[in-house]
Amino acid sequence: MRNEMRKLLDRLEESGKQDFDLHMHTTFCDGKNTPEEMVLSAIDKGLKTVGISGHALTFFDKGYCMSNEKLSGYFSQVEGLKEKYADKIKVLCGLEVDYYSSVPEEYLKRADYIIGSVHYIYKDGEYVTVDKTADILKEAAERLWGGDVYAMIDDYYKTVADVVRKLDPDVIGHIDLITKFIEIDEFFDTSDPRYMESSRSAAKALIPFGIPFEINYGAITRGYRTLPYPEKTLLDFISENGGYFIRSSDAHSKENILAAE
Ligand SMILES: [Zn+2]
Ligand SMILES: [Zn+2]
Repeated sequence: MRNEMRKLLDRLEESGKQDFDLHMHTTFCDGKNTPEEMVLSAIDKGLKTVGISGHALTFFDKGYCMSNEKLSGYFSQVEGLKEKYADKIKVLCGLEVDYYSSVPEEYLKRADYIIGSVHYIYKDGEYVTVDKTADILKEAAERLWGGDVYAMIDDYYKTVADVVRKLDPDVIGHIDLITKFIEIDEFFDTSDPRYMESSRSAAKALIPFGIPFEINYGAITRGYRTLPYPEKTLLDFISENGGYFIRSSDAHSKENILAAE
């Protein structure tokens, strides 16, 4: 775990209150506001630390993420804000790295922290997007998994289970992203034994690394869900088995940054 993350977790343990938000996107990727607007909003919300976590490049899906050419501008702009607002808030420059991202090593080293996330299921040469629409997932289950949606979900969670080994992140992003649409389109059931087995296996594989999981509010602010990730039964399972959580806004606009507790 990187230094800045360790310090934040120590502070959280000491005070019992979370005064940071590390998961947010800006105009450098698919967010609406600039890094500076996000920092100013975080100050308004009473946070002591704010982390910007731009999407790292996935070469097969470039629409929402930062090209590697953009990274140098991203880092220098966010790092510039560290000094500018040093007397008001601590600014961290992070990255949200996908399991299938390709990021030059120097930037992985330069980042204050990394959120490791799975947004795709790789199958037969295709990267199936997990969080774009329910129809993409349903169509993919038919075509690539012979109509067996739980087999698709199992492949998703097998990828999730490997995310810490692959990316060495400081935070495990939205573990059950695949449930994004089930409140509006219940094309699978999270109480199905096969779903529970797959999701719990991933959680059990990840807990021993000692990295925090996220309680992620991103899909609520975007109107897909009324509840954060992960779903309650999985959240309880992780807690009962020694895992722990930090809260993340996954904000794509400044209003949605978390307030200090
Ligand atoms: Zn994400
Ligand atoms: Zn995100």
